[in-house]
Amino acid sequence: MCTTVRSIDDLGAEFEKYVTQLFEQRYNQTAGLPYDRNLMGSLSETLVGLSSEFLNSYEEPRSFYLNSIYRIAEARKLPLSNEIYDQRMTLISTKKFQIHKKAVNWGSWRQFNAQSINSKDRQLIFDEFVKKIPDLAPLILKRFNISRQVYSLYGSSPLEAFLEREFLSYEKLYDLILALGDGARKPFLQVANHYAMEILDKETFEYFDDFYLARARIYSPLNTYFKKKDPILAAKSFLSNWGFENDLAQIEVDNENRENKSPSAFCFGVQIPNDVRVVYKHVSPFSDFTSVFHEFGHAIHATSGNSEDPYWKRYIIPMSVAETFSTFIEMLLQYPVFLQQELGLSEEVTQEVIDRRHFINLFFLVFYSANSLMKLEFWKREYTLEQASTRFQELTKRFFWEMPGDYWLLHHIMPDYDLYTPAYLLASIRVKEWINEMIDEYGDQFWKEKQAGAVFRDLAAMRGEFDLTVWDMDPKLYLEEQSAFSFL
Ligand SMILES: [Zn+2]
Repeated sequence: MCTTVRSIDDLGAEFEKYVTQLFEQRYNQTAGLPYDRNLMGSLSETLVGLSSEFLNSYEEPRSFYLNSIYRIAEARKLPLSNEIYDQRMTLISTKKFQIHKKAVNWGSWRQFNAQSINSKDRQLIFDEFVKKIPDLAPLILKRFNISRQVYSLYGSSPLEAFLEREFLSYEKLYDLILALGDGARKPFLQVANHYAMEILDKETFEYFDDFYLARARIYSPLNTYFKKKDPILAAKSFLSNWGFENDLAQIEVDNENRENKSPSAFCFGVQIPNDVRVVYKHVSPFSDFTSVFHEFGHAIHATSGNSEDPYWKRYIIPMSVAETFSTFIEMLLQYPVFLQQELGLSEEVTQEVIDRRHFINLFFLVFYSANSLMKLEFWKREYTLEQASTRFQELTKRFFWEMPGDYWLLHHIMPDYDLYTPAYLLASIRVKEWINEMIDEYGDQFWKEKQAGAVFRDLAAMRGEFDLTVWDMDPKLYLEEQSAFSFL
């Protein structure tokens, strides 16, 4: 028998052919369009074959190696993922309340919370869902175990792979997140009390008043200033002046309201850099701005990719790098000069935007620090379900207030991804550092300077080769900024 080993470039080209088809199906699924589960299954199997071929023949590039392990784990988990997706919608459902004439379920829970004025109703649903979710836990844990097994076959683990790609040690990452959670606690609790009456109609936040409820309500007073503005036009207008005019023509935007469309906005680089799609559903005027800006950041990160670059460099990106470009564009919406000059807001409204953004960022910090530390320990110490939930409960108590431990199983990221939430925290710290550099170098209207735009593009074009070692990653600057309020 004669075996020929294909070159890395040839394998990469094959990967791209099947990955783009799989992304197309995932895109359709998330966008609420018809999709084909059988096709997804067979594409995943083809990718398993290619991944095994890579793993048997090569050890470098490491990103390609680790991603091949990831692809195999994803394919092995696919049947369970589909089962969890279906079961969650039926199991996590209540007969007591309806929205749009249908029982409130896991998918419509946040929409119901955003509208329901009665906090007792919200508490009832919260308690019911927290009580029901452990029934799904065996499937969720089984899925994590598949990841653990697949990675261990190749001498790694989901945790080690994450750390390796982010150039961080476990201790360094752990301490960084601990500093964020502990540092955000005091200002967060102070400001939560300040806003409680306005957004909850009661004196204080309670365990069932979660991050998503606060985020859905805190921006209400801003809507009047944003309802006549179009977020797509605003994003396109400054980006085309910044040097991304040609990129914008490549970005397809879908803002239609389909029933099965994901409630949160997203961006898919189906083929990089030529087929990039942004999808969002109208929620409310200001939050539409934040979603659209965030997703356009992902989109120009993708269109900046260099089509000459090999597959692995264009497609395989550390998670915190993926979130860096989106977070950068989103952060402009709390940068006073941008709000005044570009969006024409008064000084007073600008301050209102900034205070409310800071509040949500602090809530994000305390909540995502608890999420992230629990997940780090989960992999490191091989927690059982009970240990994981107990630890999550302790961490919520440490960083903000005590939540029922099993709540993490209801989250849309924590049970579904091996390890993702630290990426957002890392990206926020990096972006703060980067925006400061931009201001130093190009002045306080850097988003109008073509040279600054070119720098942004150059770093975006690095894709999987983005240099993570040059950043200070000092959480202080970011924490300090989010802790500043006009009324404290
Ligand atoms: Zn993102």
